[in-house]
Amino acid sequence: MFDRLRRSPARRFAGAGLLLATTLAASAAGAASPDLLTRPIETPFAEKWLRPQAPARIYGDSYYVGFGGLSLVLIQTAEGLILIDGALPQSAAAVEAHVRSLGFRVEDIRYILNTEAHYDHAGGVAALARDSGATVVASPASAAALRAGRVVADDPQAGDIAGFPAIAKIREVRDGEVLRLGGVAVTARFTPGHTPGSTSWTWKSCEGGRCLDMVFAASLNPVSAEGFHFLADSRHGDLTAAYRRSIRAFAALPCDVLISAHPDHSGVDDKLRRLAESRSPNPFIDPAACRTYADKYEAVLDARIAKERAAAVSGPK
Ligand SMILES: [Zn+2]
Repeated sequence: MFDRLRRSPARRFAGAGLLLATTLAASAAGAASPDLLTRPIETPFAEKWLRPQAPARIYGDSYYVGFGGLSLVLIQTAEGLILIDGALPQSAAAVEAHVRSLGFRVEDIRYILNTEAHYDHAGGVAALARDSGATVVASPASAAALRAGRVVADDPQAGDIAGFPAIAKIREVRDGEVLRLGGVAVTARFTPGHTPGSTSWTWKSCEGGRCLDMVFAASLNPVSAEGFHFLADSRHGDLTAAYRRSIRAFAALPCDVLISAHPDHSGVDDKLRRLAESRSPNPFIDPAACRTYADKYEAVLDARIAKERAAAVSGPK
């Protein structure tokens, strides 16, 4: 009877039904537990930020693994890899594909350094840290926001921008602290202003015996939510002097190669295009790049402060 039933069309149909039901149950379970760490953050900027960009060696052991509109850098050392920044949650898989396409293993990423606790630079960090097992490294002010998975109250853009997957375990560094891995020393350079914890990172990369000072720059752009002031207001004192100190300190960094967190802030997009055409001369080598970047954003800060002063004189509207 068992045999006969098994061979009968009805039984086969039942069997197929069971298989279908199992498949549906599996996909329903999948839908019920999506990967929260890579769930897309909806933003009109995503298309611009995540514009495809071929990974490339920038100089020595430093590689570009980001996108057309968001920078990520990978540093190869003798004992593993260091990744700077994590873009958006939905771009984590693409970042991992970039790392692999260069011949590296995601599991070899030992550190993920963060420039700022905003979702466009920190959104993908939780997923990338989970997939690689890397330790996330940030300034104490950034770490507070990264643990919370949202912008902190004293951030100029608080209330204006989305949260992101929280990161449970973070190694905090001091300003000037040096992180060492496999012969590479990366220094944390605090550049608060755009966010309270903004951190730029510097290291040396060598090529054919020529070692250059590499700089991954946090954003220095003085943008804010409506109603926030960089000048003193009822909530805080004047923030402009500290902001200016960050910009001037950044300008004085040892700097031969600049990669800004937002490529278009320092022409990284254009340099990548030129690099793909020819490596000599390497378009990224520019000892004036950090000063130019600092001067540009000091002028933006000046304009912003002038605007705030004018608004204060004309009174609240
Ligand atoms: Zn930001």
